[in-house]
Amino acid sequence: MSYDPAARRDTPLALKLKSRIAATGSMSVREYVHACLRDPEHGYYRTRPAIGEGGDFVTAPEISQVFGELIGLWAAIVWQQMGSPPRLKLIELGPGRGTMLADALRATRTVPGFHASLQLHLVEDHVGLRAVQQQTLANTPVRPTWIASADDILAQEPAAGGAEPWETPAIVLANEFVDCLPQEQYVRHDGGWLRRRVALDSYGHLAWDLEPPLEDPAAPKPREVAALDALFPAAREGDIVEPAEHAWIDDWVAPWRSAAALVIDYGHVATSAGDTLQAVRGHAYEHPLTSPGEADLTMHVDFAAVARQALTFAKLQVDGPVTQAEFLGALGVAERASRLMAANPGKAGAIEAGVARLMAPNGMGTRFKAIGIRSRHLHPLPGLAGVDNGRFPP
Ligand code: SAH
Repeated sequence: MSYDPAARRDTPLALKLKSRIAATGSMSVREYVHACLRDPEHGYYRTRPAIGEGGDFVTAPEISQVFGELIGLWAAIVWQQMGSPPRLKLIELGPGRGTMLADALRATRTVPGFHASLQLHLVEDHVGLRAVQQQTLANTPVRPTWIASADDILAQEPAAGGAEPWETPAIVLANEFVDCLPQEQYVRHDGGWLRRRVALDSYGHLAWDLEPPLEDPAAPKPREVAALDALFPAAREGDIVEPAEHAWIDDWVAPWRSAAALVIDYGHVATSAGDTLQAVRGHAYEHPLTSPGEADLTMHVDFAAVARQALTFAKLQVDGPVTQAEFLGALGVAERASRLMAANPGKAGAIEAGVARLMAPNGMGTRFKAIGIRSRHLHPLPGLAGVDNGRFPP
């Protein structure tokens, strides 16, 4: 999206960042996005309602209850594949309004022993959304706790019967969470790579810039820059690339002896060049430098990078990615929707429209992908590798 100077808004954060840049120099894309989302005074996550019709964007669980219900059944099947352990950590990263979890818990109440096993842990740094989650989940049979790191879980959880807390198996869910994690961008320049930065133009407005080239071209390249040549061998002058890091896998999936994670997000299955940083405010796209702190900033997820991190660094196994439509289809979305429609004839039209939106071939159904990450000794995950559905009645 091009930068329309007339649309530029002097938000409180824009003023703060401009004086910071004037004083200490330009900031990298990751630093800029981090400030836009998390500035303690003006960050988007501090100040905005974000999700839902009254917020800036709508997510799958807010579109149809069937989404969270199927995720719940997915988790219950994985728990059974793990041997129905007596205790299970169910961790959700970025639960938004808590809707997916509420639907998941409702759909699984008939699965014998599942709820009794659950320890619910929510990871949420949006203060307002944490309060919404508390409300949404107030009447669920299992009480959640809010945590900031895996260590918090280990500190809360006593050893049981000789088993250490990290031995309790974990299921990790993340819908539209990974796209929120700020990443760096680099630009192909003169056969090398320069980090993209946010600086001030000659009028004192926020503008894209590049870090200066190394003074000594023969000096050894920093490791992350050297890796770019291998990741983007066909890059041309001016191409923008996003070599994403996925430390959340090490933080949330790798620590447990047995873990399975389901990640759903928009993005691409192969690593390729392209600027995917986007800003959404009031359900419309705008240039990412337009309204610092008042628009949601995200990047598309490179699922190949997620898989590389899981396989190489975290020594886990990967199932998928598949499209959201393939994943929900494999879990029986059509059957579930028709049963729900039969039980609620008055809402049949809305149910059908919601599911159609999740499955749309040129929309969410294909733009969104699902990937599974699991400990190597666990079975392949349902809907992602080998289909397993229809095990539980609604
Ligand atoms: N999963 C929800 C919400 C998606 S929006 C849904 O599908 O509706 C992204 C969510 O992740 C929000 O709840 C946001 O506040 C949270 N979030 C983003 N980055 C985070 C971080 N680094 N730590 C904790 N929560 C984060």
